[in-house]
Amino acid sequence: MLPTEGYAATLDRVAEWVLARRPVAVGVGCRGPLDEETGFVECVTPTDWHERPLGGDLSRLLGLPLRIVNDADAALLGELGEGESEPVLLLTLGTGVGGALWTGEGRYRGAFGEHPEIGHVPVLEDGPPCACGLRGCLEHALCRGGLLHQADQAGFGADVEGFLRSGCEGALRLRRAVERAVALFAHAYRPSRIVFGGGVADEFGDLLLPFGEVPRDRLPFLQRPLVLERARHGNWAGAYGAARLAIAVAEGRRL
Ligand SMILES: [Zn+2]
Repeated sequence: MLPTEGYAATLDRVAEWVLARRPVAVGVGCRGPLDEETGFVECVTPTDWHERPLGGDLSRLLGLPLRIVNDADAALLGELGEGESEPVLLLTLGTGVGGALWTGEGRYRGAFGEHPEIGHVPVLEDGPPCACGLRGCLEHALCRGGLLHQADQAGFGADVEGFLRSGCEGALRLRRAVERAVALFAHAYRPSRIVFGGGVADEFGDLLLPFGEVPRDRLPFLQRPLVLERARHGNWAGAYGAARLAIAVAEGRRL
């Protein structure tokens, strides 16, 4: 649900929708840096949502046990198979680019419990400046606004599909950025598969991403193949993951 009505009004609307379904526990995926232990959200667009104790507020409003995680983590949980014992990397491509890593035993956590910001790995040659202070971040290469910008710069206006099909220099530059990101993540994390979710992967995935086994000559140090996949649940992966989280909360387990 998009927070378009301000913080309190949106929470009321979410609570009404949730309570009508009579759950016993709730799982939430939310974008932006957040503290899973306190449910405190540091910064989410719009600014009305900055520095809010979203987890606590929503739990109190619902009168139900609740756990909140980063939205990419929620999508990752939605895409995992039962007993998944090998590492899996998930990238969500939408209004931004998020990432989450399953280590084979649990969700990867950075220092102090912080979530890694995979979307801010720089991959695009001579890319535009990013709010994080770097240039050409993966987020700009693959998020919806970034794709629109690249299409427009290449003379295709808002026609992202035409841009991706064109084989123009901008499209080739984007392909190199995707290859660079895959090589970087493959060598750094060695996942068994990289799963791409989010609305942009749904809409442009076949033109944008080299799904399937990565050719061995691209990753010669890997002993076995790496597979790039589309999220099974598409843009709904986060909802499936939130449901899985809610079941774990109800059963007193941590995911
Ligand atoms: Zn950045």
